[in-house]
Amino acid sequence: MDTLSLTGKELAAAINADTKERTAALAAGMHAPRLALIVANDDPASAWYVNSLRKAAERLGIACERIDLGADATAEQIREELTARSADTSYDAIMLQTPLPAGVSLNDVSSAISADKDVDGVSPLSLGLLAAGLDGFVPATSEAVVELLKHHEIPLRGKLVAVVGRSNIVGKPLAQLLLAEDATVTVCHSRTADLAAVTAAADVVVAAAGRAGLVTGKHVREGAVVIDVGTNEAPDGGIVGDVDAESVRGKAAGLSPVPGGVGPVTTALLMRHVVAAAEKLRG
Ligand code: NDP
Repeated sequence: MDTLSLTGKELAAAINADTKERTAALAAGMHAPRLALIVANDDPASAWYVNSLRKAAERLGIACERIDLGADATAEQIREELTARSADTSYDAIMLQTPLPAGVSLNDVSSAISADKDVDGVSPLSLGLLAAGLDGFVPATSEAVVELLKHHEIPLRGKLVAVVGRSNIVGKPLAQLLLAEDATVTVCHSRTADLAAVTAAADVVVAAAGRAGLVTGKHVREGAVVIDVGTNEAPDGGIVGDVDAESVRGKAAGLSPVPGGVGPVTTALLMRHVVAAAEKLRG
């Protein structure tokens, strides 16, 4: 079977074109949207990601400021910073980068981001709104998976979807979004007894575990669609996903590439959220 490459570049470009227009309209009203990127690590992968977000923001006319708290920042310091930026009306949006310093979890600090600036939907309030089916910011990566599937006209209603990964920022919110699309969702994790048996029964498999090569041909049924969320450092310094593309290609009906699949859509959606936050805050 020919496996379609479910790229995200076209979709990301369409989202960005709309964002750019909205940013220009805000700037004409004397307020370019402004995003605070809070960093409390010295992780090179995070630095690379922050840099790419800043470039993406710049291209779209969004002001983006990196605020470095250092890799040994305490939970209290991070909370203070998030509280201050939440109250500061010159910022429209806040993103807290992971990883956080050792001993600090996202749950320790994320409630300090006000929901109207929480453009990556990480606070307990944002996650609760999503679970209740109410309006709020949705974690961009999860939203990107659903948008990518829709863009490539992959039906979800009544379909079996296996999500591999149950983090608060990818797996769990994705399960909620898929339920809202009327899919039947199974969420897998590191204690799932027979991963291959669960995923091979699914119409759509989403790999979001952060383990290179975890999902292979034996995890995928003939004709299924596979979305690869994983970003893992490759031995050559590049990035690879969670899917062993070689064994899945030829078996799946569609597979999203890494890089060039979920990643660009995630960034585009994040920037769209920043503009939406600015529009709302500026009335
Ligand atoms: P986490 O490490 O927070 O969560 C990983 C999840 O995968 C956990 O639920 C874990 O299970 C599960 N898992 C780990 N190993 C296995 C295994 N062998 N079998 C089944 N499940 C397993 O990662 P994130 O959710 O933050 O990110 C997941 C991936 O997505 C990463 O590669 C990350 O880099 C990538 N990512 C990509 C983005 C993009 O835009 N493309 C944006 C954000 C993340 P358990 O809960 O039992 O530990």
